[in-house]
Amino acid sequence: MTTQIDRPLSTAMPVPDADILPLPRLHLADPRTRATLRIQQALLAGAREHLRAGGSVEMTHPIIGPVTDPGSRGAKQADIDFYGHHYKLMTSAILYKQASLLTFDRIFLVAPNVRLEPIETSSTRRHLAEFRQIDVEVARATRDEAMDLVEGVIRHAVTKVLAECAEELAALERDTAALQAFVAAPFARIPHGEVVERLRAKGYPQAAGTEIEWQAEELISRDAAAPFFVVGYPKGSRGFYDKESTEDPGTLLNFDLIAPEGCGELCSGSEREFEYAKIITRMRETGENPAKYAWYLDVVRNGIPNSAGFGIGVERLTRWVAGLDSVWQATAFPKLAGVVSP
Ligand code: AMP
Ligand code: MG
Repeated sequence: MTTQIDRPLSTAMPVPDADILPLPRLHLADPRTRATLRIQQALLAGAREHLRAGGSVEMTHPIIGPVTDPGSRGAKQADIDFYGHHYKLMTSAILYKQASLLTFDRIFLVAPNVRLEPIETSSTRRHLAEFRQIDVEVARATRDEAMDLVEGVIRHAVTKVLAECAEELAALERDTAALQAFVAAPFARIPHGEVVERLRAKGYPQAAGTEIEWQAEELISRDAAAPFFVVGYPKGSRGFYDKESTEDPGTLLNFDLIAPEGCGELCSGSEREFEYAKIITRMRETGENPAKYAWYLDVVRNGIPNSAGFGIGVERLTRWVAGLDSVWQATAFPKLAGVVSP
């Protein structure tokens, strides 16, 4: 297969496999792409239906701003020259989500994110350099309530796909009985420490008290009979806005949702830090300079509600539901780390 890979800007930069993406015109006209994007449309419609029925208001948020989410592990932020001011493309909408709770108690958005992921991620089958999130924030919600909402959104969206996209699922040879079974039962909620033990029992050298790397995540995802939550990641692994437990300092009141079939993480969420002094402390602990966050800290200092929220990766959810080999197949115009594309 030929690709439209271009010359890299720097010869020092490692170049991903030249055959990693098909030519755009071949990908766009592929019946599999057509089936996938119809499934994605039903997933988004299902998510919107569920969220709006629960009283959430859909908003649109900035894609550039003076500061963005610092919590994306390993990925670089993209810079924008905003009339002489140093702006960033959004890596996530977290700061705007918390601020928006001054307007509505329950909000959501389908938000684009740009993350210049490390070049090695071009072959993980689950990283894009540009992707979208179904991003949700709920005032005064607990972590359990946020996980209930994730389950509700995914169950409703998948059920809609099963009802409306039989032809597309058949074209992609998706096992629909398996998909139906995956969303039939409640999703388990497993503490991070227990996942570490399970990984070690399988011979994977997972350190306690650290982030679960994507290779390990793939392993537990392959073993899973249904989607499940990992709860309570250790401090240090996530951004300053994931709330730290008061009963169990060092542990965050957060979660990831892991899909079965080797797809790995679909969603991350948490209760949020919302008190000014704690946010400043957490920023300092995570190496962030509070001075960069002037607009956000002004909002926080004057009071925002406690909240919980999450972001579901649209392409990752589509990849899993459609049974695709790789996440780039779940978007019309894929952007992979280091690969020149439209
Ligand atoms: P995060 O804030 O890193 O937890 O991202 C939230 C969600 O967005 C994740 O659970 C994924 O579903 C999705 N996501 C994060 N990074 C990427 C990426 N590089 N490519 C595709 N989806 C991603
Ligand atoms: Mg995450």
